[in-house]
Amino acid sequence: MQSRRARHTSPTLLLTSLAASVLACGSPTTAMPVDAGATTGESGSTNDGSPDTPADTRRGQIDLVLTVDWEGREMTETNLAAMVAFRTKYPSIPIVHFLNAAYFTKPGADAVAVTALIRRVLRPMDELGLHIHGWKSLFEASGVTFRSGPTFWGTTLTAADCASDCGHEVPISLYTAEELQKVMAFSVKTLEANGFGHASSFRAGGWLAGETVRTALVLEHFAYDHSSVPSPFLADELKGYPLLDAVKALWGDTTPSSQPYSLKAGGGSFTEVPDNGALADYITAPEILGVFDDAVKALRAAPETDRVVSIGFHQETAKTYLPRITVALDGIAQRAATTGDAQVSVAYVTSHGVAITK
Ligand SMILES: [Zn+2]
Repeated sequence: MQSRRARHTSPTLLLTSLAASVLACGSPTTAMPVDAGATTGESGSTNDGSPDTPADTRRGQIDLVLTVDWEGREMTETNLAAMVAFRTKYPSIPIVHFLNAAYFTKPGADAVAVTALIRRVLRPMDELGLHIHGWKSLFEASGVTFRSGPTFWGTTLTAADCASDCGHEVPISLYTAEELQKVMAFSVKTLEANGFGHASSFRAGGWLAGETVRTALVLEHFAYDHSSVPSPFLADELKGYPLLDAVKALWGDTTPSSQPYSLKAGGGSFTEVPDNGALADYITAPEILGVFDDAVKALRAAPETDRVVSIGFHQETAKTYLPRITVALDGIAQRAATTGDAQVSVAYVTSHGVAITK
């Protein structure tokens, strides 16, 4: 699978999963003029509709959600070091981590060592959610019979594929809601037992939060899902693969300007937070800034209402694609540093700082 920009080395490394995120600690919202906070760690005042913000003087802002998907495949020094450097450069920007319990279910996994590696890149203001891909080890550890396909690529995994672990590219939407509840509950319990809090936000592997996934999210009391994505951002990289068709079928109405909304499923609902700026494996820095600039235009047209922009990357490809996020964040900082009427206020938020606007 080659992209038009030759970005990728392996399609299986690129895909995100649906992850439930929980606010681990600290304030979910960090609002600041970006020129000050993004590079110096200096936080400004919050502007999230809290009581100290008079309603009649409130002005909307851009709520920027920065996410990372932990695929559950591996943790290398190269990628973790890139993330640590990123955290040092932007010490006050919180990240929504969609963590993956599959690191703990790999054959021979050392839970203490796995926990220590993940901890290296977490910071107190982060939100810790959940990401699930169809890993065989994870599903079997959850008491669910593994399904070997059809995968994102239209294939079926063989016994040889699964000699160690396999299933990253198996859509979790192939499973029943009852099965997914078991995997979600096991994942949450595993992460919680290792000190990562109780996830309340989620992103599905391959963005494939189909109906059974949504029902399971409601039944497992998740408050936020971050799986919807504008499929055109994926169209080149995933051209010809069933995954692209599946994303289109699920999220055909999602655009780069889509805003959080209430999504009903399984007799309940949760807040759907569109991944409207996609993930850096699939979108360049100029494209990310295009999403941001369009959000600013929308904010100017309706200045009393916040606009949410969600961007992100993968832990497993952080070294390769974090530079795109860096360029985009610096571009956003430049825009926010503009003075006068052109200035835009940017708040770096996690799920709890995102308001439903429609
Ligand atoms: Zn994923």
